[in-house]
Amino acid sequence: MSITLSQEKGKPCIYCTLPEILSREILGNSLAWAFPTNIPITPGHILIAPRRCARTFLDLTPAERTAVFDLVDKIIEVLKKVYSANGFNCVWNEGKLAGQSVSHFHLHIIQRKEGDTGLLGYDPRSMLYCTGDREPTSEEELQEELVD
Ligand SMILES: [Zn+2]
Repeated sequence: MSITLSQEKGKPCIYCTLPEILSREILGNSLAWAFPTNIPITPGHILIAPRRCARTFLDLTPAERTAVFDLVDKIIEVLKKVYSANGFNCVWNEGKLAGQSVSHFHLHIIQRKEGDTGLLGYDPRSMLYCTGDREPTSEEELQEELVD
């Protein structure tokens, strides 16, 4: 058996080698698997990762991307039933600068319900949808950016 090393520091990758994480698999296919994180934002916070130790989404093969998103569909259906979830944050951090802490691609699925208290600093809406917080870019500027 070969040991998968983190591409960053030469340390064994925790998603590939830690028995307690590997034993958490709740759903999988030939190329990807899903497991709950031990530091959930809301109960049932699930991570989906490729079985191969690929660092980022850009490193995944088309088949691995399909395998990951097949599991997204299935996990969402499970979370709807188990937690009566009616919303989901499906996100990944692409690279260290974007907040990726484990150098093995993983997509987060965070189940959401009306009135949940699971945000605690993790709310994409606070960054992305604050209408009025920023000056809007004019259509002219956007068109110029598209040309560059
Ligand atoms: Zn790994």
